[in-house]
Amino acid sequence: MKFEQRIPRETSARLFEEAQQYFPGGVNSPVRAFRSVSGPPLFIAEGHGSHMTDVDGNRFLDFCCSWGPLIHGHDHAHIRDKVIDTVRKGTSFGTPNLLSNQLGQLILDNHRYVERLRFVSSGTEAVMSALRLARGYTGRSKIIKFDGCYHGHVDSLLVKAGSGLATFGTSSSAGVPENVARDTLVLPLGDRDLLEQTLTEFSSEIACIIVEPIPANNGLLIQDRSWLECLRIKAWKHNVLLIFDEVISGFRVGFEGAAGLYDVQPDIITFGKVIGGGFPVGAYGASKEIMDFIAPVGPVYQAGTLSANPVAMAAGLAALELCLEPGFYERQASRTDQMATQIEAYAREQGYPLHVPHIGSIFWLAFGTERIERADQIDPDNMKYFKMIHHELLQTGVYLGPSGYEVGFVSSAHSEVDLQEAVAKICAAMDVAF
Ligand code: PLP
Repeated sequence: MKFEQRIPRETSARLFEEAQQYFPGGVNSPVRAFRSVSGPPLFIAEGHGSHMTDVDGNRFLDFCCSWGPLIHGHDHAHIRDKVIDTVRKGTSFGTPNLLSNQLGQLILDNHRYVERLRFVSSGTEAVMSALRLARGYTGRSKIIKFDGCYHGHVDSLLVKAGSGLATFGTSSSAGVPENVARDTLVLPLGDRDLLEQTLTEFSSEIACIIVEPIPANNGLLIQDRSWLECLRIKAWKHNVLLIFDEVISGFRVGFEGAAGLYDVQPDIITFGKVIGGGFPVGAYGASKEIMDFIAPVGPVYQAGTLSANPVAMAAGLAALELCLEPGFYERQASRTDQMATQIEAYAREQGYPLHVPHIGSIFWLAFGTERIERADQIDPDNMKYFKMIHHELLQTGVYLGPSGYEVGFVSSAHSEVDLQEAVAKICAAMDVAF
């Protein structure tokens, strides 16, 4: 299929050429390179509300939302004002600051499952630190993760990890030492017997089970509550810690994330994305007893030059204040449900093999008509349809993350008109693709 460019992309193309002289593949994060969709990546110049504008002047309705952090869209006035006020007072001190107290308090007051937090600067750092904490707390080394769950580019978790690895058709990364990978036991999602068998066989060696409670990095693999409950019970039974990686789902599907939505209590939770209001913030949290294993109280070392940076804290605080407005999550979920249902209805009417799994304000364009709950149920061959839909949407002014394995996000900045426009354009793109 020929991908005819009907929008100007010359400036993006030129900048991308130039970027290849500076960065491997021209990018600073792999999926941004547009390798599995058509044309050069767009260089975005600015974003306001639900829209972004690229350097060629094309305007896009944005459903990537910076890969999830922008739950209130671009350039939200409340976040911007708080950030600018903070910047005026200096940007980093490397000391405790009032804003981190305020953000810490806001989270702990509104989250039943976390008693103490530690702020870091990315989701990867949060997960890496949470694993060290789990290992330090239990005195064991092995971890259980699930095929298709991505937990950042932590060495021991870059095994069957989804996200960029799925996009590029590999399951693991070079550069991860064998002895590190050996401590990672990878199981399929939902296989209770194998989980029990593994826990029984290695029980004295396993520190933790880590899972994305809403796996959203290999498509959107929505799990039954009973699976999460099973993880909880088995972790208790075998005396290992349960970590929910809520870097995507945290503050996204509800203020208490998936833990709150499913009412299943993990031992440690990792956060990222929404928590930073568009700035680099991650965090991990647990009970006081577990978190007291972290330095300077306990023996598990973890530190960060820019941890709890005041500007990032201000952005996170402003973003989470908005999330706490009454009815916020209900509105987001119902608007997303409406959009997904309309797209699905059209696909069904036309006999197109597409459905739209969605939860909270997360959605995914899934090919085929059967529910997909595990990474191995995705047919990579179907990504040709995504490539066509993605291309067509760019031509008509809608931006999805440039990989069929990535999910989309609806923000509170998307108006009803935006969502109706998106439905119409996605349906028109399906007409071209199928
Ligand atoms: N965990 C999950 C579930 C994620 O989705 C991601 C990133 O997409 C990470 C961890 C890593 O976060 P970051 O990219 O901020 O390092």
